[in-house]
Amino acid sequence: MGNNVSKKDAFAKHLKGMLGGLRVTLRTMLKPAVTVQYPHEQEAPPTRARGVIALLEENCTVCMLCARQCPDWCIYIEGHKEKRPARREGGKDRTVSVLDRFDIDYALCMYCGICVEVCPFDALHWSPEFEYSESSIAHLLHDKDKLGEWEATVPVAEPLEIGAEVKGKK
Ligand code: SF4
Ligand code: SF4
Repeated sequence: MGNNVSKKDAFAKHLKGMLGGLRVTLRTMLKPAVTVQYPHEQEAPPTRARGVIALLEENCTVCMLCARQCPDWCIYIEGHKEKRPARREGGKDRTVSVLDRFDIDYALCMYCGICVEVCPFDALHWSPEFEYSESSIAHLLHDKDKLGEWEATVPVAEPLEIGAEVKGKK
């Protein structure tokens, strides 16, 4: 007798759980979908989305700070020194660093943004561009020309707060 009662209780419990699950399924089925059928349908990413890192080559001083701070070691920089005339008459010739190579391997990058944050010369920026998938992982290494093209897709920065200083090459 007691055994029959416990079986009934267990059945009622299972039935209640199943009906609860079905109720959630039904409620979700009737809601409009939040996803879109990419690539047939496209949604604009948020303005500040971390899509890809772009390089403003003219600001880069080849200081290597970004490459040294990158936790994935996926930034490859090479440069050389060149002599330039003095800025003022009678001054000494200057030695400047010229960028030869600036590659980022997006197969390794974890999009942490540390390189963008640490660059003292405002040469790296987030672009919302995200359509750069490749059929081969080896093709995810992008050079300074490609990173420079993405610079055009970087949104215009908000005005600085009063008293804040602009970073950049002196
Ligand atoms: S976002 Fe992070 S992982 Fe990617 S290149 Fe920059 S520092 Fe390296
Ligand atoms: S930290 Fe900035 S300036 Fe220095 S190498 Fe990297 S991108 Fe160039």
